[in-house]
Amino acid sequence: MALEKLAPGALKAALEELDRLFAHLPEFQAAVPGEDRMQAVLCETATRLGDNFPYFHPLYAGQMLKPPHPLARAAYALATWINPNNHALDGGRASSAMEKEAVAELAAMFGWSRHLGHLTSGGTMANLEALWVAGQLQPGKTIVASSQAHYTHERISGVLRLPFAKVDADDHGRLDCQSLERQLDQGGIGCVVATLGTTGVGAVDPLPEILKLRDRHGFRLHVDSAYGGYFRLAGNLAPAARAAYDLIGEADSIVIDPHKHGLQPYGCGCVLFRDPAVGRLYKHESPYTYFSSHELHLGEISLECSRPGASAVALWATQRLLPPVPGGEFAQGLEASRRAALTFAGRLKADSRFVVPFDPELDIVVWAPRAASASKVSALSQRIFDLAAEQQLHLALIRLPASIFRAAWPDLDADQPTIVCLRSVLMKPEHETWLDRIYAILSAATDAATSS
Ligand SMILES: *Cc1c(COP(=O)(O)O)cnc(C)c1O
Repeated sequence: MALEKLAPGALKAALEELDRLFAHLPEFQAAVPGEDRMQAVLCETATRLGDNFPYFHPLYAGQMLKPPHPLARAAYALATWINPNNHALDGGRASSAMEKEAVAELAAMFGWSRHLGHLTSGGTMANLEALWVAGQLQPGKTIVASSQAHYTHERISGVLRLPFAKVDADDHGRLDCQSLERQLDQGGIGCVVATLGTTGVGAVDPLPEILKLRDRHGFRLHVDSAYGGYFRLAGNLAPAARAAYDLIGEADSIVIDPHKHGLQPYGCGCVLFRDPAVGRLYKHESPYTYFSSHELHLGEISLECSRPGASAVALWATQRLLPPVPGGEFAQGLEASRRAALTFAGRLKADSRFVVPFDPELDIVVWAPRAASASKVSALSQRIFDLAAEQQLHLALIRLPASIFRAAWPDLDADQPTIVCLRSVLMKPEHETWLDRIYAILSAATDAATSS
């Protein structure tokens, strides 16, 4: 038995409570079309869902996927009995209040006592809002992000018709400040995107140096921490990453994805602005929406109209159980992921079959199997990936510039500019105790791949 089964029981009790709160209404049972076939179709649905990688299992150590907390699962489902729409208070009074509270806790995690912010469908929409605001405040100016930043920044800039330029990344995958400075000297840059936790290798851009450049050049600073934002709470970061996280509150806007490290089901991103006055940029006149409030409601500070109140309810409940504070149970989960990544990288470094280009900054580990050239390494990575998957260990692959191995593997024959590496996101706390099993499968797959 691998799937948790706490959520349905907890949900049933809460549903009785919710039902009781509406007991004053005249008796009513909603018609359920197809009721007699429902169970059969649901079981058929389960059969279809079985065709998946086991994201919930510790042997899934590939992409950035992790199961929601059982409470988030139950709270999300519970909210669907009301099915609130967090566009406006008319559509979701309680869930809008819960969204404001949950988002304020995320802002407080970054040191902000005042902010403007809301949940979005994910990090892409959240980044779109941040860049949209940047474009409004600095019309026609260029958005820059590193070559290791999330690919959507360039595309979003295109959608917003804002000029976009890439800044080089250094050999650790971090934004290169010398390259940024050269671009700033040429002028025309309105907004710099710093990524705190790149999606590919978990690199933390050097925020202290970027802030020094901001003092001189006065650009808007957006921090994309869709994946890495919660690591602000981790007590076991290396000094450079710690220094960056300590200054995250200096940004003008921040994006964080509760559906990545925040134990939420998909459909939960968050954008935060340091200056609440940017709310004026969202101003619109809608004849439909605001009848019950004179305050700026969530629908007036969001580009999306309808939004799931259930996402806010699930996040609120999860943060009530596991507050996002340093030293708390939630923070300990992140620390365990990070320890797993450090231990795993340490074992790989001590194993002559592998090369680790740099130490993990968060919980993503990247490594390459030794072979005669970059092209042979790439082919071998692919074989190990396939053989490990046959033994139920699911890793990921990533194509990176061969230059990341300059320090760790100076005599690598770079017969091609990029190299396919193995990659693991150890984002489940259980990964720490499963490392022996993970390593044993990786080791056997590597032996089989090199001998075949
Ligand atoms: C995942 C991610 C995004 C995109 O977020 P979605 O929730 O997938 O839309 C943006 N930036 C970074 C750094 C990410 O890791």
